[in-house]
Amino acid sequence: MRLILLGPPGAGKGTQSQRLVTRHGIVQLSTGDMLRAAVAAGTPIGQKAKAVMEAGQLVSDDIVIGIISERLDQPDARNGFILDGFPRTVAQAEALDAMLTQKGLKLDAVIELVVDQSALVNRIITRAAETAARGEPVRKDDDPEVFKHRLEAYNRDTAVVAPFYKQRGQLQQIDGMKPIDEVSEAISEVLQAAVA
Ligand code: AMP
Repeated sequence: MRLILLGPPGAGKGTQSQRLVTRHGIVQLSTGDMLRAAVAAGTPIGQKAKAVMEAGQLVSDDIVIGIISERLDQPDARNGFILDGFPRTVAQAEALDAMLTQKGLKLDAVIELVVDQSALVNRIITRAAETAARGEPVRKDDDPEVFKHRLEAYNRDTAVVAPFYKQRGQLQQIDGMKPIDEVSEAISEVLQAAVA
């Protein structure tokens, strides 16, 4: 099973991806997680990405395309994967297409979590509070002001990615404002139909 989860920051892509990992035994490929790991490890990529991420802007296409291309070649991605947070631009979507063709892989589904953006800032404030309550470090870019920049970047660069897949008849849209379990159920139905 190979799928893309689309949707603005805070739409629930990470939460739903983790559930899919458990249910389907596939890996979650989150470019955000990979970049945060690179920043924490202080790698050259991390050094380049740090300030951009902290400002809520997008890291360059070349960097994320390179990361994903290498990651898809790892043995644990052979069973299938969920792309979470990638592609975020049409250039990334086109590069993904070329990559998959070259690797002889096909996508089973492209799912967009459709959410009311005005509710997202509150969601992110809750996410930050819950993370802090668990004693875990809160993402710097979950600060409400930075989050607004992430939403702007989404609307400027990423909102066009869903129509890219829609035009090709690949896009499935799901109401991401429903309770988490219902969203998971809706995703499962789409996936069952996709592999049937
Ligand atoms: P996320 O965890 O998906 O919300 O990503 C956190 C941050 O990492 C984003 O705000 C961007 O700065 C960067 N990032 C993650 N994925 C990408 C991507 N596909 N293209 C560009 N920047 C990305």
